[in-house]
Amino acid sequence: MKKDYLDRYLDDDHSFHVVNNKFTEKNQGVQETRFSLGNGFIGSRGIMEENPLGTLPGTYIAGMYGRTAAQVEELINLPNPINFILLVEGEKFDIFTMKTPYHKRVLDMKRGIIVRKTVFEDAKKRRYLYQSARFLSMADPHICAMKISLKLLKGSASLAAICGIDDTVCNEGGLMQAKRRHFNTVKTDKEGYYDYTAYRTHHRKDVMSYGDVFLLDYRKKKRALKDRFYQFELGAGQEIEFTRLFSIYTSNDYSVKSLKRETMRTLNDATDKGFDALYREHAAAFSRLWNVCDVAIKGDYDIQKAMRFNIYHMLTAARKEYAACSIGAKTLSGPGYRGHIFWDTEIYLLPFYIYTRPDIARGLLLFRYNTLNQAREIARDKGYKGAMYPWEATTSGTEQTPRYSKDIDGRIVEVKTQDFEHHITADVAFGIYSYYRVTGDEEFMKEYGAEVIFETARFWTSRVSYDREDGKYHIRNVIGPDEFHVDVDDNAYTNYMASWNIRYAAELAARHKTDPAVSSMRRRIKLMDAEVAGWADIADNILILRSDIKGIIKQFKGYLKKKDYVVTNYSSSFLPLTPKHFEFEGLQKTSLIKQADVLLLFCLFPDSFSYEEKLANYRYYIYRTIHTSSLSYCMHSLLAAYLDDRFRAFVYFWMAVNTDLMDVPKNTVDGIHAANLGGVWQALLFGYAGIGNGRESLLIDPKLPGNIGRLEFSIYFRKDLYQIEESNKYVKIRFIPYKAGIRKKRVIKVRGEEVILTPYKYKTVKIREVGIKMITAKDVMKQKNLVTVTENFNAKKVGELLLERKISSVPVVNGKKELVGIISEKDFIKSASENERRIEDLKAADIMEKKVVSVNYRDSLESITKTFTEYPYRRLPVLKDGKVVGVITRRDIIADFLGGYY
Ligand code: BGC
Repeated sequence: MKKDYLDRYLDDDHSFHVVNNKFTEKNQGVQETRFSLGNGFIGSRGIMEENPLGTLPGTYIAGMYGRTAAQVEELINLPNPINFILLVEGEKFDIFTMKTPYHKRVLDMKRGIIVRKTVFEDAKKRRYLYQSARFLSMADPHICAMKISLKLLKGSASLAAICGIDDTVCNEGGLMQAKRRHFNTVKTDKEGYYDYTAYRTHHRKDVMSYGDVFLLDYRKKKRALKDRFYQFELGAGQEIEFTRLFSIYTSNDYSVKSLKRETMRTLNDATDKGFDALYREHAAAFSRLWNVCDVAIKGDYDIQKAMRFNIYHMLTAARKEYAACSIGAKTLSGPGYRGHIFWDTEIYLLPFYIYTRPDIARGLLLFRYNTLNQAREIARDKGYKGAMYPWEATTSGTEQTPRYSKDIDGRIVEVKTQDFEHHITADVAFGIYSYYRVTGDEEFMKEYGAEVIFETARFWTSRVSYDREDGKYHIRNVIGPDEFHVDVDDNAYTNYMASWNIRYAAELAARHKTDPAVSSMRRRIKLMDAEVAGWADIADNILILRSDIKGIIKQFKGYLKKKDYVVTNYSSSFLPLTPKHFEFEGLQKTSLIKQADVLLLFCLFPDSFSYEEKLANYRYYIYRTIHTSSLSYCMHSLLAAYLDDRFRAFVYFWMAVNTDLMDVPKNTVDGIHAANLGGVWQALLFGYAGIGNGRESLLIDPKLPGNIGRLEFSIYFRKDLYQIEESNKYVKIRFIPYKAGIRKKRVIKVRGEEVILTPYKYKTVKIREVGIKMITAKDVMKQKNLVTVTENFNAKKVGELLLERKISSVPVVNGKKELVGIISEKDFIKSASENERRIEDLKAADIMEKKVVSVNYRDSLESITKTFTEYPYRRLPVLKDGKVVGVITRRDIIADFLGGYY
């Protein structure tokens, strides 16, 4: 058995690894979020076992909300099992206080495990190899397992280990609120070696039941310990191994009476199996999820890894049995937004689950069905008909938006979204429609979906107001997705969604006119034909404001009268910079917007608007959007891909896919940005892979950016599983029918052409390549006076080549003879003269931006832009006669775009 935990527990495929070698006080919170574990039932932040100063332990169970001394209900921070303290003669093993000559921690996303290796040095300079591994079982969601090993490398030491469930945790206080501990301990028990503790929440009186065991492997003996404190000695080279196993249940799923029995039974079974056997079951269950949900990306390792990071966090956020608790805005990875459920689920996250885990998607929508009565009450209270969903929800289904909150600039502001952000009600209906059109789940639609769609449509018919003067229906006093503009009239997104909601409800009613289940539901909710008959007229006449001069859809009434501001400044990572002279307070007065609003409509209804209209709006709104919401870049990427603006599609995609890996919004510490995870998936699958979302049959039209050579993924469509491999040259596809024995063929479309598939059989369809090929060294070599060097060639040699052969630039190639960059004489001399000593040490790759392709002096602006579109690099050397004559940056290109449009 391998002693090294990194070797023993990690999968070989490094593209599934998130690695951290430097854990600092500054990046602590962000690392804890990134390394979060979860199995859809329980989530746990990736804290260090020793709970160093400043740690933010977070243990969350799906649906476990409560309200205690806070404005609103929140996801409860539960007792923390990840709590393991080692001491040597009173000194704590702690990443911040002890010296750590070596530290490495890896989250293996394929297997859902965190493995850590740290060499600690104590005050007496004794060194220890500390290793740990932990996971939340995907095979049995109630099991959590952690293992810790300590080896003294030299000398001898007296040590102690203390562990236990830390029940002092609470929901953190802030500027405006106290710390909130949501539970009391109601029962503790000891059954042999097992500890049992039950906690009850103050508000809803939910019970959480924890069982735990403490196992020891020391001096070749294995045993269980009665106490949670153990003293021991280590000599040079000696090692001790501890295992902690936990079993966690709640009264949300089991009767209070049976909780202890279930908890102890699971703990007992888990103890019999032991850490490694439990791990094997867990890792196998996790891998099974990846078999369907992975998107393998060939050609760009960083994007591959980042994409897997996004998928991993969706896999940990929900599971079938608990999906009806829905998913909070920060998954189960942090306290942000108090764990509340927003439109993020239906519009952003849902497509991933619909196509890869339809059972989970169904559960997420059941949450809305189960809270339909509360939505009816909200509508009634506000004087409307039907059902109106809360802007922020918990499992209670009531409105949970806090009245006050801290704004992005740190000020305390009154929150008005619950009063005005009504589009969520249509978004919920849209979620149901999205699920239904891909899965064809009639039973769900008749039993649950239709009722929600009818009641939300009803809401809109009472929410609109008719204006005799223009003969139109208006929706006044709203906030659209762009939350900078509060209390506006006729927001395009809201109006369009409302109109769609009503029209679709009318269609559904007509389609299911004779269906007994739907008819009986309609009788129950008193939905008569006469009421439905009026719907089409309202739907057709809800006003969408368009500007004749600019050819755009106005975001709301009066939008074009706002002080117009066009974003022209970009940060080096391509983020639009908010103009300094507009304090956040003043944004309402400007045309600047927070996130995709009108543009989002084109992502949801790509076929309902003309290409010209989409393009005109895109060109207008992208310069006014400052993306201060993580819901923005992903949708911009998707739309840019639809519009074939591949350069921006990639830039937006890159920002979105790295949101939490780069902490783009600077608040990853509060948890993973859930909506963005799903938005990124949509950009990749609908935008690049070209899956025609929600059409009658499966459509595929690949448009991969140059740095992505090939994609491999699976999706469910109408219950069948499709396995797809595609590049810009071909699509290879087969389907596995949902039931064995089905022989019927399926007809799909690849770039507009019908393709007939036989069950289980792969078919490869060639397509015409779009986009630019990767330039190969051979292409460059066609030019005179050029020689190539390999990527890691020593700079001295490069210098010699430059001198001896009297050439002006040297292309650098990788092992596949692909050009990865160019070193010019100018660059070389510059870098050499800056620091002579460096010439000896430098490698070719060091003195240039590693991944660079070149453009030619005579290239048109269009072709240069195209090159930028195909490659993610920020700078490209411009060559004339094989000589670098300058460098062109992305920013130059963008500046040109701006000039071009205005
Ligand atoms: C966004 C909303 C989103 C919420 C939760 C806000 O900043 O503007 O659209 O629903 O965050 O993610």
